[in-house]
This record gives sequence, C-alpha cells and structure tokens, in this order.
Amino acid sequence: MYRYETHLHSSPASKCGRYSVRDNMEFYKEIGYDGIFLTNHFIDANIGCDRTLPYEEQIEFFFRDIEEGERLADEVGIKFFWGIESSYLGTDFLIYGLSKEWYLSHPEIMEVSRRDMLTMMAENGALIVQAHPFREASYIDHVRLFPYHVHAVETDNCGNKDFQNEMARLYADTYKLHHSAGSDNHWARYATRLAGVEFETPIDSVEDFIERMKNGEAHTFTVNVENGKIIN
Ligand SMILES: [Zn+2]
Ligand SMILES: [Zn+2]
Repeated sequence: MYRYETHLHSSPASKCGRYSVRDNMEFYKEIGYDGIFLTNHFIDANIGCDRTLPYEEQIEFFFRDIEEGERLADEVGIKFFWGIESSYLGTDFLIYGLSKEWYLSHPEIMEVSRRDMLTMMAENGALIVQAHPFREASYIDHVRLFPYHVHAVETDNCGNKDFQNEMARLYADTYKLHHSAGSDNHWARYATRLAGVEFETPIDSVEDFIERMKNGEAHTFTVNVENGKIIN
C-alpha cells in the first residue's frame, strides 16, 4: 500500500507550525510514505504573516512553503502535493486541487458566504474535506456541519478525541460522504500519532488523488510514532 499524509502544517506558513517543509518531507520519507499534502492555514486562519496585508501579498506568502516543497521533492525523494486548510469561525475545510493562479484571481472567496465559497471551489474541480468536524476547543464556539458542501469527512484526526472521530464516522456514513484521515501534524517527527490514507497503487497527481477519493478508493489508517519511527 502507498501512504499519504493529507493534513500537515509547516513553519513559517502556518503560525502554529513548528518545523520547516524540509523537516516534514525528510520525516515522511524516512517512515516510508509515498507522498504528503501540505495543508497550511489559509489567509482566513492561522497564517504566519500579517493578516492586514493585501490579499495578493498574503497569497504569495502562503505559497512560499509550497514552492519550497515543490523544489525539494526530487532531492528528498518524496512526492509533494498541497491543499489549503480554510477556516470559518473554527470550522475547518481541507481543500485540494486548485492552483495558485486560481487563488490569485479569486479574492472574492473571502467575501462570499462559506457555502458559496465551497460551491465555487467544487465547481472548479476541488476536493473538499470537512476537517475534524466534531473537534471541541476554546476557539470553536459550536459544531457546524456542511454535509451538502463537502465530498468527504476527516474521520480520523490525531488532534481529536476518539469519540469525536467516532462522531465524524457517523456523520460521514449517515450522509454517504467519503472518509479521509489526516494527522493535523504541526510537529513533524515529534508527532506521536499519525493518520492518513493509503491506496493500492501510487497516486501521481492531485487530480488522480481527487478522482480516487471521489471513487471511494482511499483506505484510512492510523499509526503510533516514537522517536520519529512508526512503532505499530
Ligand atoms: Zn494549526
Ligand atoms: Zn490543520
């Protein structure tokens, strides 16, 4: 099976990320992953730059870590893909498959309703996953669900309690949404648990990933990590 991290933060793109793109890529290469999706906090969330900067400047900042990952992929020997983690009052979405040019030419996504934004992105080919829908935290006032505006639900997230992941599975299955899994890793090799998706054959592009996710071909998995190594 070929493994992928789908939910990953780096520094400095995410203010809360602790390690560089390179640190993350080297870690996932060492533990045998075929690829990673870097999903830093978008400009509506915990981005690492000044959020009063103009939209275009924030987008340029957001893409610096992505461009670094694309440069490093061959050297490190791991496939590099990316998405964004977009936030609406603490309700988070992992969005894959749009280009930097798309984001640069659509500043209106920050003005429209969240449902309209998700619709627009999906119509442009994006895969939308509701991240950790039942997470409870000080920054989340209440649980919000968008069952008709996402393709999949993150049913395993390492930042969540087991019952919150179990609720996410019930949510996904009840609404017939696909399952995804991601670590929400802010700690690179110092993470203690990872969640991800695996496929029987390697994926070769974000479009390939999206198609297979929509076909329900992804298997979710979780593993424990100690000292940068998978222990089970
Ligand atoms: Zn974060
Ligand atoms: Zn995250």
